[in-house]
Amino acid sequence: MGLCQGVLPQGGRCEAVGTEVDHIRPGDDHSLENLQLLCAWCHRQKTQAESSRARAFKRPPPTSIPRTKREATPDPW
Ligand SMILES: [Zn+2]
Repeated sequence: MGLCQGVLPQGGRCEAVGTEVDHIRPGDDHSLENLQLLCAWCHRQKTQAESSRARAFKRPPPTSIPRTKREATPDPW
């Protein structure tokens, strides 16, 4: 057991008890240098930050082009 290695958003160390092991760089590097102990809260913050960054890299959803509703052409009669 150790203390959380996380950094609070406002700066400073989170001093909660670390309960979750996090990969500093996401991927397959399981070396100790790439692992850190985080509390559940910090882990969630980090995961959310990573997923929102991943979303930012994706193409934005195509803006829905306002399609003029094609009415049935009235009979020319
Ligand atoms: Zn923490």
